[in-house]
Amino acid sequence: MRDTIPSGVVEALRRAKSLVVLTGAGVSAESGIPTFRDAMEGLWAEYDPMELATPQAFARNPEMVSRWYDERRRDCALVKPNPGHYALARMEQCLVEKGGEFALLTQNVDRLHQAAGSRNVIELHGSIWEWRCRRCGMSREERGGTFGQYPPRCECGGIRRPGVVWFGEQLPPKAVRDSELALGTCDLFFSVGTSAVVQPAASFVHVARGHGAKTVEINREATAISKIVDWSILGKSGEVLPELVDRAFKE
Ligand code: NAD
Ligand code: ZN
Repeated sequence: MRDTIPSGVVEALRRAKSLVVLTGAGVSAESGIPTFRDAMEGLWAEYDPMELATPQAFARNPEMVSRWYDERRRDCALVKPNPGHYALARMEQCLVEKGGEFALLTQNVDRLHQAAGSRNVIELHGSIWEWRCRRCGMSREERGGTFGQYPPRCECGGIRRPGVVWFGEQLPPKAVRDSELALGTCDLFFSVGTSAVVQPAASFVHVARGHGAKTVEINREATAISKIVDWSILGKSGEVLPELVDRAFKE
């Protein structure tokens, strides 16, 4: 069972001129990519994500950490966008066709939004496909099979690391600036499939509200922002988003 979509949300989406959507791991869950908490199963059950996703962990054990990220990278290669990703791409297209603005701020590193056709995607936590040399800085997208050696090495001999943002690291400054610009002008804000506790994403709903935007949350369960938003919809993003887009732009 899930909540029905309030008509106020449908109406707000239909009227929106500038829309910002923040997404998290929950949006990719229905594609088969586990959220961080759920990923810690099987072989990796004994590890704490905080002990894998930090610069200190990589410095301590680059072999293990790069092997873990390489497995996640190859998992991502096996999956496809789900109806939630496609609905967000349709949302953008409908808005832009009407002369509106749309920005998709994502904490996901899998690039499934781009694969589904989303255009204006701001990657707050980098990408698991990009691997960057710590010595010369060269970054390259890796779409092939296993690296074979861990950590992978650059032509210059330096160690390469996944191009994701680890706990304790700064977000890419341009992504932060672009997000702030979009939040400063939006009249509608969605938070989808994110627990909304990690900064700075956690503050986005407050920034949007501060500028007068209406706010909506879509999540499988209640979160820290459920009571703050104008509408909180409990349900799976892959079910709620397609229905919402259909109702807003077809009816
Ligand atoms: P998170 O904090 O964004 O939490 C996931 C949220 O999704 C939870 O609130 C959960 O209730 C919700 N959710 C789960 N399934 C859902 C569904 N079908 N529909 C709607 N909501 C659903 O993410 P996390 O797992 O704690 O990961 C932390 C960070 O790790 C991420 O921000 C990201 O940088 C990285 N990560 C990325 C991916 C990816 O790219 N797909 C996957 C795991 C982790
Ligand atoms: Zn190099």
